[in-house]
Amino acid sequence: MDMLSPLGPLPELYERVRRVVPPAEWAMFAEDIEAILELKRTRNAVILAHNYQTPEIFHCVSDIVGDSLALAREAQHVEADVIVMAGVHFMAETAKLLNPSKTVLMPDMAAGCSLADSITAADVRLLRQRYPGVPVVTYVNTSAAVKAESDMCCTSGNAKRVVESLGTDSVIMIPDEYLAQNIANETGIRMITWAGHCEVHERFTPEEIRRLRAENPGVVVLAHPECPPEVVAEADYAGSTAGMSDYVASGKASRVVLITECSMSDNLAVQHPNVEFVRPCNLCPHMKRITLPALRHSLETMSHEVTIEPHLADRARRAVDRMLAI
Ligand code: SF4
Repeated sequence: MDMLSPLGPLPELYERVRRVVPPAEWAMFAEDIEAILELKRTRNAVILAHNYQTPEIFHCVSDIVGDSLALAREAQHVEADVIVMAGVHFMAETAKLLNPSKTVLMPDMAAGCSLADSITAADVRLLRQRYPGVPVVTYVNTSAAVKAESDMCCTSGNAKRVVESLGTDSVIMIPDEYLAQNIANETGIRMITWAGHCEVHERFTPEEIRRLRAENPGVVVLAHPECPPEVVAEADYAGSTAGMSDYVASGKASRVVLITECSMSDNLAVQHPNVEFVRPCNLCPHMKRITLPALRHSLETMSHEVTIEPHLADRARRAVDRMLAI
């Protein structure tokens, strides 16, 4: 690292994040960032980063950023040899499903998801037996084995369109109970749900939203549909992280609070310096397992490679492809 500059040798990169990363922190990040940029070149690798990654990852080393839907769509078109997922395990599996000839790496295999962990393939088979003929829509936050038992996948960005595309009165929508309830409220379609919850979004409460409004007059509340329906009812807008990002970019609000994982506000603050972000902070412990040192180690050692058994991959890919075709 350049000892003459407190910002290290990457001042142009620091410029992108200086509103949310203090110089002292940047001094700790710069060496790993340089190493990762070099490793990406030598490994012919790209980094896909979810909106919940920290700004030094999201803005300084990533090639493709977005919500799970955007990452799935973009993963299909990656031409590099290696995809490193700065996100959680199901996102790496989805990238592997959609671009199976690539080497897909997960920097930390313990980066899971409370929703993905809430349901197994055997659970889905039981639901099908109990509700014969009812289509199964599975949130993308699930294992490949669960996707393989499903008719179609969805994300929070397209869930409404996916369930409406089926043309049925009832849908088995798993595993996120709150997302299913929120989509039922929007569409009037009867949802058979599962008791899975996102451990980040389930912590928000209507009282907290009302307190945030009282303490921050005029604030516009944007909530993720993984929040409980009574929280979504208190919000001005509900949508995926991509939907929230579009809302902020539209310039409709000068003061916002994002009812979602806290890195999202940091990443948008970088792009929208004129918007004031009120920041309640609920961290996703799984997303936060992905760090610069973990990304560097992953590229240095080419670990941990994500593979999917072929008999599962074909069936799971069908469910994801049907979603992407909508
Ligand atoms: S924020 Fe929630 S849904 Fe997203 S990875 Fe973390 S636990 Fe899973």
